[in-house]
Amino acid sequence: METKKFLLDEKDIPTQWYNIVADMKNKPMLPIHPATKQPLKPEDLYPIFCEECSRQEFNSTDRYIDIPEEVRDVYRNYRCTPLVRAYGLEKALDTPAHIFFKNESVSPVGSHKLNSAIAQAYYCKKQGITNITTETGAGQWGAAMSYAAKFFGLELAVYMVKISYEQKPYRKSIMQSYGATVIASPSMSTKAGRKIITDDPNYMGSLGTAISEAIELATTVPNCKYVLGSVLSHVSLHQTVIGQEAKKQMEMAGEYPDIVIACFGGGSNFSGIAFPFMEDTLTKGTKTRFIAAEPASCPKLTRGRFLYDFGDEAGYTPLLKMYTLGHNFQPAHIHAGGLRYHGAGTTVSQLIKDGFMEATDIKQLDSFKAAMLFAKAEGIIPAPESAHAIAATIDEALKCKEEGTQKTILFNLSGHGLIDMTAYDSYLSGDLKNYDLSQEDIDKNLETILKLQQK
Ligand SMILES: *Cc1c(COP(=O)(O)O)cnc(C)c1O
Repeated sequence: METKKFLLDEKDIPTQWYNIVADMKNKPMLPIHPATKQPLKPEDLYPIFCEECSRQEFNSTDRYIDIPEEVRDVYRNYRCTPLVRAYGLEKALDTPAHIFFKNESVSPVGSHKLNSAIAQAYYCKKQGITNITTETGAGQWGAAMSYAAKFFGLELAVYMVKISYEQKPYRKSIMQSYGATVIASPSMSTKAGRKIITDDPNYMGSLGTAISEAIELATTVPNCKYVLGSVLSHVSLHQTVIGQEAKKQMEMAGEYPDIVIACFGGGSNFSGIAFPFMEDTLTKGTKTRFIAAEPASCPKLTRGRFLYDFGDEAGYTPLLKMYTLGHNFQPAHIHAGGLRYHGAGTTVSQLIKDGFMEATDIKQLDSFKAAMLFAKAEGIIPAPESAHAIAATIDEALKCKEEGTQKTILFNLSGHGLIDMTAYDSYLSGDLKNYDLSQEDIDKNLETILKLQQK
């Protein structure tokens, strides 16, 4: 029988993260101060983030950065994750393509997000920080951070987007089980929250608002720092354990991917699986296609613009040069909550700009259709976010069938969907729809962002 799962040992957990910025000819543009328009230095981030993460954010010279032993020790609770040959999906599609997926859903919280949460909690602890704060949309990052905070004895306050807080009570319970405090956002506990509630008492929240609240708390409470689950370069750095393991496992399978695919919210799981393979592209000229699968209702990569914009709704963050729909963009309430973010981070944005990666947009109903096919063929119910990667994989595998070419496709299964069954319930009852977005609406929103550009 042919091998289905490619497994690595605990001792194979990577000892270093791969810092792709060191290999990029065009470095990502530096974050700038919104008022002075001056480029920032790591020290400028110290009031918000812990010092080591701030330094990693700007590190453009070290190709590899050591993973602290304490972090590897917690990684041992679930790493290395399996690489799986999706024979069932290949058969269901009747495709000559070889499809592999890296299964990050086996982590204790069900997604890849722990890979960075553990690192960030460790660096905060090491610096003597006692309290941390963050936001969560769908609840995945909050769950991961709650788990990591517990391991390193930190107090965590999570601002959870109000609509998720109400629609996904189980996510809240997961965070509380690990000992975190969960607050529905917008809340009355911050100036940013109070202003939004005053303007619109019925506002159900957004990731941008929750970020504003968490940052406000971190900058006003002593010995409190903020942690972020995506978008920033140090988060992508931590996620490269995914691709480094996958590279070894593809070697065990005797194949090398022609195409690497992941879903795209702020870019962390995409970067995690893609960057270690992209290292070969940048240093050896390998020709691999890297495809980011984003929701059609929040299409920053396919329809947004490469501009300086805030990372949050209230405008507390530095300006980041990235593909964006505008920090005031209000995405439709699709069920893939983790993909409802307006921007893309500076590193991946530069790589897209320079043509090293491409993006495709997936409609909500197509993502669920792909998820159903995958569940029946492989036995895993994927997270609605991951379903976007599966839909893009299916598109490529069907192209192989049409063209009669055999390609090797690798995608990242960023999480499972077992805590998203209300979303599946809506899909199965026929209550879900696609959201169309006109270019006019996108352009109108971007007009305000154009004013922020560097003079
Ligand atoms: C948060 C999340 C995503 C999106 O975030 P990225 O930073 O783009 O990876 C994707 N999949 C799952 C399961 C998530 O929890």
